[in-house]
Amino acid sequence: MRTRNVKGAREKITSYPDLLITDPEKHRGKWKDIFNNDNPICLEIGMGKGKFIYEMARKNPNINFIGVEKFDNIIVRALEKQLEDRLPNLILARFDAENLIDYFVENEISKIFLNFSDPWPKKKHEKRRLTYRKFLDLYKKILVEKGIIEVKTDNMKLFEFSLVSVSQYGMILEEVYLNLHQNEIEDNVLTEYEEKFSRRGHPIYKLVCKFK
Ligand code: SAH
Repeated sequence: MRTRNVKGAREKITSYPDLLITDPEKHRGKWKDIFNNDNPICLEIGMGKGKFIYEMARKNPNINFIGVEKFDNIIVRALEKQLEDRLPNLILARFDAENLIDYFVENEISKIFLNFSDPWPKKKHEKRRLTYRKFLDLYKKILVEKGIIEVKTDNMKLFEFSLVSVSQYGMILEEVYLNLHQNEIEDNVLTEYEEKFSRRGHPIYKLVCKFK
């Protein structure tokens, strides 16, 4: 996602600590206290401006959602939505997924969504892809037993890489779609990128996989 400089972004995102967390290490093992209930918590890593996670939170009031984004200039857009809506089951968090393990304890998360993650097309950057085995290690540590990861992308190469990576890791492939929008998928919540790329005629790939 392009990062235009947003004036005052840094100041804004630190002004609403009840809606947007910038000190995630302080909430390690205690995220449910923010939501004030024991409902399952799902994470979207790289939520961008937050369209998907908002809609998910609105549709599923009995599930808690944390939208993670690493850039101030992008997360500030999600914050602007949350300032209007203040959905009680949604928290925004600014951090880099590289450090997930510093922010969550084991079994704290029920499901992880990776939507239109940066493809990092060069082989020498494959370790940065969010489905690289090092990231799967992190996800496994913070997810509940048999925790689920859902991946959507329009990038065929990233999708192929992800299929191989999760299979080699020993995860179970539960669902694979090579053209998601050709199927009658009930409840598919579109992301910003999904809307944009499907309008341009790109097929959307989806993978649902589970740790053993
Ligand atoms: N999920 C949104 C945005 C996709 S663009 C959609 O589908 O529309 C990918 C987003 O992931 C970018 O905003 C980028 O800043 C964020 N991102 C990439 N790597 C990340 C990481 N390691 N930790 C947190 N966010 C990350």
